[in-house]
Amino acid sequence: MKLLFEQSACGRGCDILWKCDVPAVQHKGMEREKKLNLPQMSEIDISRHYTKLAENTYGVNTGFYPLGSCTMKYNPKVNEDIAALPGFTEIHPLQPVETIQGCLKVLKLAEKIFCEITGMDGMSFQPAAGAHGEFTGLLLIKAYHEKRGDIKRTKMIVPDSAHGTNPASAAMAGYTIVNIPSMEDGCVDLKQLKAAVGEDTAGLMLTNPNTAGLFDKNILEITRIVHEAGGLNYYDGANLNAVMGIVRPGDMGFDIVHLNLHKTFATPHGGGGPGSGPCGCMEFLMPYLPGPRVCHNNHSTDQNTLLSGMDGSGFELHLMETPESIGMVKEFYGNFLVVVRALSYILTLGREGIKEASQAAVLNANYMMHRLKGHYEMAYGGPCMHEFVMSLAKMKQETGVTAMDAAKSMLDYRLHPPTMYFPLIVQEALMVEPTETESRETLDDAVDILLKIYREAYENPQKLHQSPGSTIIGRPDEVKAARKPKLRYIPENESGWQN
Ligand SMILES: *Cc1c(COP(=O)(O)O)cnc(C)c1O
Repeated sequence: MKLLFEQSACGRGCDILWKCDVPAVQHKGMEREKKLNLPQMSEIDISRHYTKLAENTYGVNTGFYPLGSCTMKYNPKVNEDIAALPGFTEIHPLQPVETIQGCLKVLKLAEKIFCEITGMDGMSFQPAAGAHGEFTGLLLIKAYHEKRGDIKRTKMIVPDSAHGTNPASAAMAGYTIVNIPSMEDGCVDLKQLKAAVGEDTAGLMLTNPNTAGLFDKNILEITRIVHEAGGLNYYDGANLNAVMGIVRPGDMGFDIVHLNLHKTFATPHGGGGPGSGPCGCMEFLMPYLPGPRVCHNNHSTDQNTLLSGMDGSGFELHLMETPESIGMVKEFYGNFLVVVRALSYILTLGREGIKEASQAAVLNANYMMHRLKGHYEMAYGGPCMHEFVMSLAKMKQETGVTAMDAAKSMLDYRLHPPTMYFPLIVQEALMVEPTETESRETLDDAVDILLKIYREAYENPQKLHQSPGSTIIGRPDEVKAARKPKLRYIPENESGWQN
């Protein structure tokens, strides 16, 4: 496909603006030296160009997107409409607080509801993504230990099933990572954990259900072991889609939580748009939370009346509430409109709907797993939570077809492949997360395609090695792409290309 610049033809255009009717002001020395090189195109050619680009992408609105660990679910459009209301989009962060009371109420109400869902006492919406929330939470742990003069706690325990961002965030916060291997069943090895904790343990980072899609039954024992050693427990909430409204990290013994609003709570992701990874904590850690914090200007009144605004009181903004605060981790309140979408989503689902969403997510994953079992090998036995992991190691041994081959051939069926080669502890892994928003027909179609690929692996492996055959690019050389990146686009016809 050619760039707009290559399609440009001298003299074409689509002037839609009136000629300027005020005299142009020339500033000496500030004028452009060369004429600005903009593509010259008709409106219809521009429109076709962008339509073609849109056709070449794949998203949740195109089809099934079972990318494990990412929760690529459909986001109801009503939440977009609400987040687009001018009262939310046309505010300025430095506006006087009395003129943004509604927005502050959104933040306060969202905080209250997310605290209820997670079992935490306070939450900051500043972090812009999951990994950023992790980093913020780890700074809370650090501040807590340091405040108590407990400076020998330099180690963060991270199981080997963790998402890569966990050890990365811990390293960024200055911790040494203690990696503990998981057991055969994918859960935390209590013996290993007991051996790993000590006076130097700052805390543990864990996601539950974990990246194998399994709920760790020993969770209370795990968090107790860490607490008894003097460490704190950090909950990676990226998998909350499996358990919201059913169990709460706070009740599992966690002290700090991050959520991925762009996974679980109605903000689209995957395209690099704004996200939000709010960081919540138990009361004893709240003084360390980043500012600004939204507070009631009347501390004595009941929370529920305040939120309904019935007593006429309002909200204040405390830039940095306490001297213990770790400070700001992002400007102002974080990505505010993502919080608006999340709140709108939660309020439309309601208390029961939140729970049903998780139940349906778990049901959908188990349905798919059940139909695939007996053909594909599952990495772990028993029922799964909201996602499951298959291992194609046996298939690879018998046919030479790898998880990569199977994933690539799914593209020929216009199906987005599952997550590949993750979690790292499973060989030839394909990790499937259907989410709650898919119908039984969609799940059946996807399963049928996967079963067809399975048969093909044994009958015609060569075809799978060569797939995809129907996409614009086949298999990019990933090593070369990383080692010798092409950072400049070379047009087919250099002459139409100035600069
Ligand atoms: C996605 C994910 C993260 C990181 O979240 P980002 O918003 O991508 O930074 C952390 N842990 C798990 C388990 C995840 O799936």
